[in-house]
Amino acid sequence: MQAIQEAGHEGKVIDHLLCDLVIEQEGPSIIYKGEKLDDIDAIIPRIGASVTFYGTAVVRQFELIGAFSAVESQAIVRSRDKLRSLQILSREGLGMPKTAFTNFSKGGEKQLVERVGGAPLVIKLLEGTQGLGVVLAETKKAGQSVIEAFHGLKARIIVQEFIKEAKGADIRAFVVNNKVVGAMKRQGAEGEFRSNLHRGGKATVIKLSKEEKTAALNAAKALGLAIAGVDMLQSSRGPLILEVNSSPGLEGIEKATGINIAGKIIEFVEESVIKQAQKRKKF
Ligand code: ADP
Ligand code: GLU
Repeated sequence: MQAIQEAGHEGKVIDHLLCDLVIEQEGPSIIYKGEKLDDIDAIIPRIGASVTFYGTAVVRQFELIGAFSAVESQAIVRSRDKLRSLQILSREGLGMPKTAFTNFSKGGEKQLVERVGGAPLVIKLLEGTQGLGVVLAETKKAGQSVIEAFHGLKARIIVQEFIKEAKGADIRAFVVNNKVVGAMKRQGAEGEFRSNLHRGGKATVIKLSKEEKTAALNAAKALGLAIAGVDMLQSSRGPLILEVNSSPGLEGIEKATGINIAGKIIEFVEESVIKQAQKRKKF
């Protein structure tokens, strides 16, 4: 909001969970706290992972009434599905930890562990975020038991090779409009392999290699995200993409880098709205 005001625009925080969507022959509309929302040039979606379904329906409705969305609704849906995202990144030939997925078939746990090269291995709940639901299994036996337990609960998981060289750290590249506008390294707390800031990780500014920058830009592009927080592990075979976040937090990275990332987002939105208006005039 501060960046919006500093750039001389009028902005408003809209709680997407309080938006009602009306869909009829006259076209789509959005009702917020009893009032119809129109005359909106652009939105910057900030959709919590637990409300992806409703949140993206609201973003889609804004797109349908002609507002420019800084992040496309469909790209948010895509990025929130860890499995689908990894499938797309793999098709693009991007570096990633080897990952396997299987149905809840009993007795397949041993093969699943072998598929990612045995122990240690990482097991992740597909629904997890902020590092919750990410487990490191030190031995094959432990890995098998954890897989069995999750499958017994009918929880969908992916299994991944453990990247030891990352030493409990990962890097986050913040991408805006096909440029890396800031990057930080996050180091997990002592004895913790997860580096999420929510799990006590500490962030420091870092200069990315060319290869890391390219990987981040390609990952954001593959998922169709104009704004993205790309998380990567540094490994002996180059950067490995872990995930691509479509509502990346600003506070941690702005503090670590001192860069006004919100300002960069506003510049991108300004440019895009002007482009969109010019295109409409042409037709
Ligand atoms: P979340 O979406 O919950 O943040 P991540 O897949 O990003 O889940 O995993 C959380 C953290 O765990 C990562 O930031 C990284 O530090 C660590 N981690 C995840 N996968 C691996 C892996 N395959 N090898 C090593 N460390 C990993
Ligand atoms: N705010 C979360 C982060 O920066 C990302 C949420 C999401 O896009 O799924 O890690």
